[in-house]
This record gives sequence, C-alpha cells and structure tokens, in this order.
Amino acid sequence: MEQYRVPPNTDVELSNYETYYDGDIEKKEGKDQLKELGKTLRDLQELLFAEHKQKVLVVLQGIDTAGKDSTIRHVFGDVNPQGTKVANFKVPTQRELDHDYLWRVHPHTPGKGEIVIFNRSHYEDVLVVRVHDLVPKSVWEKRYHHINEFERLLADEGTTILKFFLNVSKKEQAERFLARLDRPHKRWKFNPDDLEERKHWDAYTAAYEDMLSQTSTPWAPWYVIPSDRKWYRNLTVASVIVDTIKNLGMQFPSEVDGIDAYRDKLIEMIGDKDA
Ligand code: AMP
Ligand code: MG
Repeated sequence: MEQYRVPPNTDVELSNYETYYDGDIEKKEGKDQLKELGKTLRDLQELLFAEHKQKVLVVLQGIDTAGKDSTIRHVFGDVNPQGTKVANFKVPTQRELDHDYLWRVHPHTPGKGEIVIFNRSHYEDVLVVRVHDLVPKSVWEKRYHHINEFERLLADEGTTILKFFLNVSKKEQAERFLARLDRPHKRWKFNPDDLEERKHWDAYTAAYEDMLSQTSTPWAPWYVIPSDRKWYRNLTVASVIVDTIKNLGMQFPSEVDGIDAYRDKLIEMIGDKDA
C-alpha cells in the first residue's frame, strides 16, 4: 500500500496517477478481502477503545462523487457504531467564519481510544476556498504551513493521522452523476450545483496538487487512492488503515487491582442464591 503514499516534498502531478486501477486483483477476490479487513478493523477498534491510549484521525478528501460517504460505509461498516465518529465539514456558519479556519476543526479531533473520520476537513480551506476566491491568495497560501503545524501538534500529542485523496477521473465523475439521475433511489443525491462545480475541474486539480505536494508529511501522510473502481478504492483505504492500526503495538489492559478478592466475592455471590 506504500505505493500510494505521497513522500514528503513531492511535486505531485495528478496526471501521473492512475484512477482506474485494480491492483491485478479480481473484483470478487477484492470484495472478499475487504470483508476480512472489516472484521479485523472491528477487532482493532475494540482493542483501541479498551487500551485507551491511541488516537486515530482519518481524513477523506475528493471531488463530488469520488465516494467519501461510500468509503466510510464500506470500510467502517462492521465497526461498533459507538467506536467511531464521523465529522462532516460543510459550508461554515457565520460563527465559524468569524473565527480562524481551524477553530471548528480542533474540537472534533480524536481523544484517547477514539477513531474519528473527517468527511471533508480543514483542507477545504485550501480547496473550495481557493477555487472560489473566498479569501485572497495571500491568506490561503499561508495555510499549508499552519495545517502542517496543526497536524504536527496532534501527532506530537499521540494522534496517528492518515489522509486519503480519492482520485477519480473526469469521465468517471460524469458517469456517476448520470447514474444518480438514472436510478430513482439515487436521484436525491443529484445536485445541479455539482455540475457547476465540475466546470472548475482544472482549478480543483491544481488545488489538490498543491495540497498533496505541500502537506504530505512524515507525521500526516497523504495517500492518493485510485477511485474509479469503487471496490478497489474501499479495499485500498481499508488496507492502509488496518496496517497502520495493527502496527500501533496495542494491548488489552490486563491488570485489575485486587482481582483475586473480586473473584472470590463473585463466586460467593453466585453460590448464595439470596445474595
Ligand atoms: P457535501 O459534502 O456534498 O454535503 O457538501 C459540503 C459542501 O460544503 C461542499 O460543497 C464543500 O465544498 C463545502 N465546504 C466545506 N468546507 C468549506 C469551507 N471551509 N468553505 C467553504 N465551503 C466549504
Ligand atoms: Mg456534494
């Protein structure tokens, strides 16, 4: 999976990255592997919660239809719903706009024993904000540095950060919009504004490239995921997350003070029907 990781200080050109790729795996095999990974992730999350030491932050970015929601569903579908949180970052409220752009983000970062998934993130502040000139360049160009330092703070304080850019082709996006229109149960997802956004494809590509080039760090790496095939996208994201969490060296806490006395007491209670 390391092939998808963007090394620090890389000049990323997305035209060099595959969107339609399947790792030479059959779809059926890939789906079976994902099922297994889902169960492993469920067990790892329980361990993470029990141990109460590690914090894990997963960031998902990608253009409309790249599959942020669906990746969350497929990768985390087996995990105890109490064990993960999803934070969605939408158009900021007036109160949020009145503060710096990281103000609304920090409270959602994971605490000990938690996995948090960011569905969009602080990166919107160098993406949509840049593409639509919502703040001048002199303001957004400083943000790469802030973001690296913000993520370094989180990492220094014990957060494992994984960032995924779901990379779809322009043609695939059009096909997915069409599929939304053509299926009655998917039509609600179609938003004519998304077609307006598509007109800014090249500007978004430039913004994604700068984001990937400037903010893939040793403490918070980006992975560029080929996402034209949904099952391969899900499998790849799940693999990176499982591999990373597996390597955190977690252990179930085994010590309970006075365990023998508690055991004796419980045996006594069970023996005495009136207790
Ligand atoms: P969706 O995720 O499709 O529900 O849409 C959320 C919308 O909120 C997207 O169009 C984002 O570009 C937009 N959004 C998220 N964060 C920001 C931000 N910081 N500034 C402006 N728009 C944002
Ligand atoms: Mg949308």
